[in-house]
Amino acid sequence: FVATFFMGCQQNPSLNNNTDEPNNDQKVEELLAEMTLEEKIGQMNQYSGFMDFTGPKPDKGRAAKKLEHIKQGLVGSMLNVHGVENVRAVQKIAVEESRLGIPLIFGFDVVHGYKTISPIPLAEAASWDLKAMQRSAEIAAEEASAAGINWTFAPMVDISRDARWGRVMEGAGEDPYLGSQIAKARINGFQGKDLSSVHTVAATAKHFAAYGFAEAGREYNTVDIGTSTLYNVVFPPFRAAVDSGVKSFMNAFNVLNGVPATGDKFLLREILKDKWNFEGFVVSDWDSVGEMVAHGFVKNGREAAKQAVIAGSDMDMESYHYIEEIKGLVEDGEINEELIDDAVRRILKVKYELGLFDDPYKYCSEKRENETLYNPKFREGVLDMAKKSIVLLKNENDLLPLIASGQNITVIGALADDKTSPLGSWRIGADDETAVSVLEGLEKYDQNRYTYSKGADVVTGETSFTRELKINTTDKSGFSEAISAAKSANVVIMVLGEHGLQSGEARSRTRLDLPGVQQELLEEVYKVNKNIVLVLQNGRPLALPWADEHIPAIVEAWHLGTESGNAIAEVLYGDYNPSGKLPMTFPRHVGQVPIYYNQKSTGRPSLPSPGEVFWSHYTDEENSPLYPFGYGLSYTTFDFKNLEIENTYAEDGSISVSVKITNTGNRKGKSTVQLYIRDEFASVTRPVRELRSFKQVELKAGESQKITFQLTDKDLGFYNNTGKFTVEEGSFQVFVGEDSQAELSGKFEL
Ligand code: BGC
Repeated sequence: FVATFFMGCQQNPSLNNNTDEPNNDQKVEELLAEMTLEEKIGQMNQYSGFMDFTGPKPDKGRAAKKLEHIKQGLVGSMLNVHGVENVRAVQKIAVEESRLGIPLIFGFDVVHGYKTISPIPLAEAASWDLKAMQRSAEIAAEEASAAGINWTFAPMVDISRDARWGRVMEGAGEDPYLGSQIAKARINGFQGKDLSSVHTVAATAKHFAAYGFAEAGREYNTVDIGTSTLYNVVFPPFRAAVDSGVKSFMNAFNVLNGVPATGDKFLLREILKDKWNFEGFVVSDWDSVGEMVAHGFVKNGREAAKQAVIAGSDMDMESYHYIEEIKGLVEDGEINEELIDDAVRRILKVKYELGLFDDPYKYCSEKRENETLYNPKFREGVLDMAKKSIVLLKNENDLLPLIASGQNITVIGALADDKTSPLGSWRIGADDETAVSVLEGLEKYDQNRYTYSKGADVVTGETSFTRELKINTTDKSGFSEAISAAKSANVVIMVLGEHGLQSGEARSRTRLDLPGVQQELLEEVYKVNKNIVLVLQNGRPLALPWADEHIPAIVEAWHLGTESGNAIAEVLYGDYNPSGKLPMTFPRHVGQVPIYYNQKSTGRPSLPSPGEVFWSHYTDEENSPLYPFGYGLSYTTFDFKNLEIENTYAEDGSISVSVKITNTGNRKGKSTVQLYIRDEFASVTRPVRELRSFKQVELKAGESQKITFQLTDKDLGFYNNTGKFTVEEGSFQVFVGEDSQAELSGKFEL
């Protein structure tokens, strides 16, 4: 088919454009002209294939129907078919048995790795290291593409301010600026410079839009937010994704201001396709077309398909409504066939760009698959990423780094011995038990001086991605062994936190504490030994005020992926000086949520003044977070001085801000210098601080360096309530330092 088809193209002089080979747009037009309406709708249909395509073919039920549809050219894409043997088997049906032989595109959730797993995306974001994140996405693309996959449903670029929402683990945190930079880095990593290379995959910016603002942090819940938040907070990372050439977008499940995102013409046509000129295609989320009925937006599947197509959702993931309804809708004149053509063009174009028409089996080399999956060379990259993702939250009396010899150390906590939890959620291609546990990591330092006791489990019963998690354990029978081990130790390392599947999709929580009896275990051990290093493994910000008050050293180690234990051990022993900075605010109490640094000022003071009762506060808790956005310690210290502002805005539209940073400690370290602005008065009120730039600098002990930032209109402006980007005159404050509470500040006027 492929050869015949290209010959057909070349015979048409109007498509030649004086070159021998037609370009991708011309190829798409030629193919589109050959397609029946059913075949076009087929390209817009995506099925999940959990079945094994290499074994005997199913002859009844849904699986059999899916196979039949592939043969009839009624499927454009499969998700969840992976591994070369499977992909080849199903691609063969599409290419050899369907009339036009159009290759399928194979999508999969390669979120933070396929087999070799990187830290969860929220953890990676804590590195603020864009190059490392790009490398991590490259590794994921390299491994996944070797297993037949050519399209990933990542990155998730949803901003969220609500740690109760389980999917915060999958994003870049609460800040639109940091989130935009990270979106670009990840897309560049997945897609590379050349999408037709077999080492890259098409990326997806998801979930459009505002999924991270689900009310009360409850998964799939309603979203009601105003224009200012939508344009200034939610949109920027999506816009950055378009500007980076991302090939697809995914709808959000939620209703946004009364309209399900999947059927929202404003979002998909007006903003994404018209205003931002997005040229790729939009895939629905799993049955999000069908869910518009349950949302109360449309009365049945036919109406759902109609609204989704009109809105601009190009491909239907697993609702069946496109394949069942669109033909009738077009024939009855309810959908203009031009909309179908537009959707199909977008999908085919990406298939051409991937090179699937040149060779539909290009991702199907067993040899490459064998050489690539779990290749040790990837471990170096994910280890580097894991170390950079760790955030040192507290380190009193220099308890860390640990002294390398002569100490009796006891390790406590089920997570210390867990080889699956550190892989985190959304690593559905990876095999369980493939992470290096904390115990294994520590063993490399000095095996003999460690004792270990579990203390308590985190969860009981079966844990799997698609099943409801069993309740947190209440069993305290392991406490006494742990307590007696702690009594005779010099240092106690307690590894506590969330099971790897306690965050992720449909894993919302109302509490941000240590699940189960872990808090109690921590307090009991503390009674006999105060020299505790608390290593946290979790997929979201936790609220741990007791630990902050009592425990001398706290290390935020998230779910760090395959090399988790090695990364943690290197940090605990000081072979790596921690440099991570929180990408999300850590509250004191769940009642403060949503809590975020770039809040608006109220009309009332937020600090007490004498005699004032009616100020903006809680009567039972402070306003301030436990750890602010951007925060993280190092084994050395940095000092910031000499903030200088050079205002040449009137001449060249720029403001230059410089600062002198000095490493004031006694070892080499990396600082992430952060610049925040405050637009003091504006026609739409602006946040008290907004991150506008950051730079990472590594300095030897005693070394100083001058860092300079340039601010231009894109940093100084904002979207007003009509969605227009404006820069307004007036005074601005600027703050530079190591977190969102940086004190060094200056002022300038526009
Ligand atoms: C998730 C998406 C994911 C899709 C396919 C949905 O439940 O919301 O993010 O890509 O499943 O697995």
